[in-house]
Amino acid sequence: MAIKITDECINCGACEPECPNNAIYEGGVEWALADGTSLKGAFTLMDGSVVNSDDRFAPISVDTYYIVPNKCTECQGFHEEPQCAAVCPVDCCVPDEMYEETVEQLMEKKEKLHL
Ligand code: SF4
Ligand code: SF4
Repeated sequence: MAIKITDECINCGACEPECPNNAIYEGGVEWALADGTSLKGAFTLMDGSVVNSDDRFAPISVDTYYIVPNKCTECQGFHEEPQCAAVCPVDCCVPDEMYEETVEQLMEKKEKLHL
């Protein structure tokens, strides 16, 4: 499953550069699928909706850093463990039960993000 950042986040910024998928954003910053990935053109999100990779979306959180579930692969294919959780000083990067995914599904997502 994807990782999420809880409201315990102290906004230190340590996790953001560690993410291989550029799935982590500072609070209040708009996100896009194309940021830090090789995505171009139409892309189908996990909820089935089709968007453009360059579209910018409203921030998921304004007060703390946040993770875009559609871009988080739990670091599968890159690292042994979620890098955000590994560096977070307050352990607020935790599994997001809203997004149950198998390792195969996470690897498939990773392959789509980085062609
Ligand atoms: Fe990024 Fe990995 Fe954290 Fe997901 S688990 S947000 S891919 S660093
Ligand atoms: Fe927040 Fe942890 Fe990321 Fe720092 S490393 S910005 S505390 S989630």
